[in-house]
Amino acid sequence: PTQPLFTPAMSPQEGTSAATALFRETFGGEPDGVWYAPGRVNIIGEHTDYNGGLALPIALPHRAHLALRRRQDRTVRLVSPQTRQQVDVTDLDTIGPKGTPGEVRQWAAYVAGVAWALEREGFAGLPGFDAALVSCVPLGGGLSSSAALECSAAVAIDEVAGLGLAGSADSPDDAGRARLVQVCVRAENEMAGAPTGGMDQSASLRCLPGHALELDCRDGSVAHVPFDLAAQELALLVIDTKAKHSLVDGQYGQRRAACEQAANLLGVELLADVAVQDLDEALERLRAAASGSQGSTSAAGADTLEPDVLVRRTRHVVTEIDRTHQLVGLLQDGRPLAGDKLAAAGALMDASHESLRVDYECTCPELDTAVEAARSAGAHGARMTGGGFGGSAIALVDAARVHDVAAAVTDAYARAGFTPPAFLDAVPSAPAGRLA
Ligand code: ADP
Ligand code: MG
Repeated sequence: PTQPLFTPAMSPQEGTSAATALFRETFGGEPDGVWYAPGRVNIIGEHTDYNGGLALPIALPHRAHLALRRRQDRTVRLVSPQTRQQVDVTDLDTIGPKGTPGEVRQWAAYVAGVAWALEREGFAGLPGFDAALVSCVPLGGGLSSSAALECSAAVAIDEVAGLGLAGSADSPDDAGRARLVQVCVRAENEMAGAPTGGMDQSASLRCLPGHALELDCRDGSVAHVPFDLAAQELALLVIDTKAKHSLVDGQYGQRRAACEQAANLLGVELLADVAVQDLDEALERLRAAASGSQGSTSAAGADTLEPDVLVRRTRHVVTEIDRTHQLVGLLQDGRPLAGDKLAAAGALMDASHESLRVDYECTCPELDTAVEAARSAGAHGARMTGGGFGGSAIALVDAARVHDVAAAVTDAYARAGFTPPAFLDAVPSAPAGRLA
């Protein structure tokens, strides 16, 4: 059997020295400081954010580290080893959204875009800066390396420009951080051109160590739910499938469009408005309304989807929000996560995966194989996490079994002829802040 491949998190010391060293060799002199922001993994509540529902992410110990120094002018210079150490140079006076002459190429959009968005949100006249990025969040693995990047830039700029939104590490300012979430979402949507909701940025800026973040995506309100796995001899194993599916792009937009159509036909603003106890009745109504409007074209110019497709997409969203409620309830009851309670939590994760596989149709063979192999090897529950069609899965396992479960998944991948997966130990960690 092959050894499972683990992606370790850099320690704060490692992250600080690597980012500082890259800064010195690229720009000369010392940075003003090193700031960091974590990637995230969502425990449950998938494809609920744009429906106004609940999500339950944790911050990973894997972080983007950004060594940054304020400049006297409005130039922005950026370097990352992942981009072959080429320095990207932009200027805050000329940058603009994707598709305009000022658009910023590739990853620089996530960093310069935060300054751009801050200026549009009322903080005009920001200084330029030089910054070196060292990140150990896997790129494009569904663990939100993009939000880690944006949020590290947000807390760094917040401090060097004296905006005072993030608060200190000891007393984070949650209201200020909620504003920074909006800024980072705007940078990702408009500068990088990725139509994502606010879950990733909320997790990176607003989580607490040892806790999951109950995020109500309708109004951005949060609650911190105890999730201290180590204390209960449990671990959350992340399985990065390494699967890249060319279908992905259009699929995310199609799922969003289906939810909007279903909400319209049901006469609600968001699918989160459908209560789970009214689901059967709502699905009957939806089926009738969708059959009636088959062949017609909506105001947005999209054809009405098959009634059966709309019914299944809606059933996933409404039951997933309910499962998230149930898991939050379990985690908050004060009893240890063991015995029946652990079995119930695992069952909710399993049910989430089934719903995403059958009703939302956003898994793939690599995700399904990871989940099945983890369960057979003794995971209490397992599911895909993130947008799907590739990316990552998670498994709730006994801490002592982490290596065995990872080995079993690796073997299953070898048998199926898939690229070997990578693994992360997802200890619920601290939100974005300053390291040095
Ligand atoms: P995810 O957020 O799931 O990792 P995304 O496609 O949203 O996937 O974001 C990945 C993009 O973020 C990369 O293509 C790159 O532009 C940028 N990025 C993230 N981390 C880094 C890094 N360390 N160096 C350079 N670019 C990065
Ligand atoms: Mg992302």
